[in-house]
Amino acid sequence: MAEPIRDVTIIGGGPAGLYSAFYSGLRGMDARLIEAREELGGKVCLFREKMIWDAGGQPPLQGETFRRQLIEQGKTFGPEVLTGTKIAAIRKNGQGLFEAQDHRGRIHLSKAIIMANGGGIVTPQKLRLQGADVAEMDNLHYTMPSLAAFTGKTVLISGGGDAAVDWADELSGIAAKVILVHRRDNFCAHEAQVEKVRSNGTDIMLNVTIHRLLSDAAKTRIELVELMDTESGALTRVEVDDVVVSHGYERDSELAFEPEPLRKDSHFFEGGADASTTVPGIFAAGDCLSYTGKVNLLVGAFQDAVNAVNRAKTYIEPEAHDRGMVSSHNDRFKERNRSLIRQIAEEVKSGG
Ligand SMILES: Cc1cc2nc3c(=O)[nH]c(=O)nc-3n(C[C@H](O)[C@H](O)[C@H](O)COP(=O)(O)OP(=O)(O)OC[C@H]3O[C@@H](n4cnc5c(N)ncnc54)[C@H](O)[C@@H]3O)c2cc1C
Repeated sequence: MAEPIRDVTIIGGGPAGLYSAFYSGLRGMDARLIEAREELGGKVCLFREKMIWDAGGQPPLQGETFRRQLIEQGKTFGPEVLTGTKIAAIRKNGQGLFEAQDHRGRIHLSKAIIMANGGGIVTPQKLRLQGADVAEMDNLHYTMPSLAAFTGKTVLISGGGDAAVDWADELSGIAAKVILVHRRDNFCAHEAQVEKVRSNGTDIMLNVTIHRLLSDAAKTRIELVELMDTESGALTRVEVDDVVVSHGYERDSELAFEPEPLRKDSHFFEGGADASTTVPGIFAAGDCLSYTGKVNLLVGAFQDAVNAVNRAKTYIEPEAHDRGMVSSHNDRFKERNRSLIRQIAEEVKSGG
């Protein structure tokens, strides 16, 4: 069956992409959202256990809760959502439609494109140990699933940046023992956080790297970590329940634009605060878009998304209004509001 032609294809299922999907529905546009990873949420997947305080109008909430809410909102108007689908190339065809070609060679057609790729697919840098198959170890982590999962455990954290030092701080008092190892003689994390881990009982080992992981007979769990002193080469072994590796991120931002490439400043598209890029019909939102005054925060991603959708709307329908009605006065919510108000009334009646 031929692929339906959508109004807009949104590349990236992080906060900017999900909010663009929601806002496209609000503007009566038919959207397709394409995400390279199996999971939606973008960089929020990297800080699920953290508390977010600055999302605007939200009480402090955990990254994972925020991610779930974003997905729910993004799906409000039933966009087509494809995960595990990496877009490799975008081109404009002879009919003036955009073709987004995925890594399997499948073409996704639409009248406009919103780039919301965050500047690339960001994945934590994996531990590279010669000869060791560490991929399958159940107790080796690159992101923190939940702090509670480490209650009473001995946790070895490898890394010297903000994330590693923050995790060491947050786990103190939860884990039985925290060992923080770093290959250099100094941390590159925020000084105040470093001071905290120096005084909270964390066992700090500097000039030390992970040399080998020793697993159980089934090769599913790490039992011992062999550490090497980077100066003397001396080896020591420590018993662990869990290992957390925080060695920074890798970014894959490879994406071809034909015939005209989008102008980029390293991984980020040069554009305007109105979400425009250097190619008409391709708009951008969130971390991938660079302009003077840009804020690389969740709230910035939402503002960009509104602009990108409004611009895509008038690109497709030049006579359309250049902005949408606010949601509190928008006809598209009339039916939904009726049932929500009925639900609230029921809850009030039953004392909920
Ligand atoms: C550790 C950490 C903590 C943070 N804490 C906060 C905070 O407390 N408050 C705050 O406001 N901000 C915070 N941020 C920043 C915030 O997460 C980002 O600003 C936000 O995620 C940007 O959203 P985005 O959708 O533009 O990009 P991303 O979240 O990066 O999402 C982009 C998505 O596009 C996908 N993608 C990339 N290339 C392709 C492709 N070719 N095909 C298909 N999909 C593709 C990626 O896989 C990704 O899912 C934090 C960031 C980090 C890393």
